[in-house]
Amino acid sequence: MAIKSSKTNNRQEKNQAQEDRIISSQEKVTDKTIDNSLRPKFLDDYVGQSSIKKHLDVSIKSAQIRAQCLGHILFYGPPWLGKTTLSQIISNEMGSNIKITSGPAVEKQADLVSLLTNLEQGDVLFIDEIHRLRPQIEEILYTAMEDFNIDIMVGKWTWATSVRMDLPEFTLIWATTRLSSLSAPLRDRFWNVLKLDFYNSSELSEIILKNAKKLEVPLTDKTAENIAKRSRWTPRIANRLLKIIRDYFTIWKDISNEEILNNIFCDLNIDDLWLDSLDKQYLENIYYKFAGGPVWLNTLASAIGEEEDTIEDVVEPYLLQIWFLERTPRGRKITESWIAQIINNNK
Ligand code: ADP
Repeated sequence: MAIKSSKTNNRQEKNQAQEDRIISSQEKVTDKTIDNSLRPKFLDDYVGQSSIKKHLDVSIKSAQIRAQCLGHILFYGPPWLGKTTLSQIISNEMGSNIKITSGPAVEKQADLVSLLTNLEQGDVLFIDEIHRLRPQIEEILYTAMEDFNIDIMVGKWTWATSVRMDLPEFTLIWATTRLSSLSAPLRDRFWNVLKLDFYNSSELSEIILKNAKKLEVPLTDKTAENIAKRSRWTPRIANRLLKIIRDYFTIWKDISNEEILNNIFCDLNIDDLWLDSLDKQYLENIYYKFAGGPVWLNTLASAIGEEEDTIEDVVEPYLLQIWFLERTPRGRKITESWIAQIINNNK
């Protein structure tokens, strides 16, 4: 199978419904927002996740030598660590088009069929939040992923018959924050299951310095480190803080004074570990209402009026990472480190 060496512009006309489901295409993504301009475009620019990077580099080069599509990939890990970015990098490195959608946007089997049948040879189809795809819809993907064909029903009632449709070879990339919610048959169909981890301070500092250059904000290494340590080990948050700093730089023309920088962060309530109000509410509930835990997730979710999914996907990964929270067989429990932090704050 030949892989396209440059982006194809001769795309078939898409019907409006499909366009609506596609959150973005390669062309729309690249220059739509500043955020996207900060996204690394090729593996060499991508900082961190070194073992994933090394592995993808070999796999991409090997697929190119064999003139084949890259095998399907499943990325998992907490949000905002770079799953979408890596998918776009893969399509850039392979010189192919990318279509981006998400589990909740694919409501019916017909939506998925339409996406699949409009793919071209070598395309990358990226589906985010795959754990939110309905099981009946998911089933279509089994043969699409394995044999590049799908069975569709034609006609109604007793005249309905199943027709097999061939698809072009493509790479499916899925992203999920929760691997455990994927069914075993689906997981088995992935050539690669890759976990993204939180970034360390030096990786984040490097990302911040690179992006500061793109935004034309002169930053010292020390300032980058200061921003990095408040970034919850997450590049999207690092970028967000950098954009705040850029605003100050635009007005003040100088952002090198550490004391001034700390005052800005202090005014915005962004401390060293940057616990946001939901983190604090979550931890304080366990501490004050449930005597430090253990407490079940559903009880806790009702106590703070938040969805269990949000707690599991957004709040807990970071709190577990900084050792403020423990998951025990009898529920969630806060740790001595967080209790020490409260005592310290109350002094
Ligand atoms: P996810 O899909 O995991 O939620 P994204 O790929 O959308 O995360 O990344 C969130 C933001 O973080 C993007 O705007 C991107 O610019 C930035 N980002 C992610 N990973 C990196 C990285 N390794 N280097 C630089 N920026 C990154």
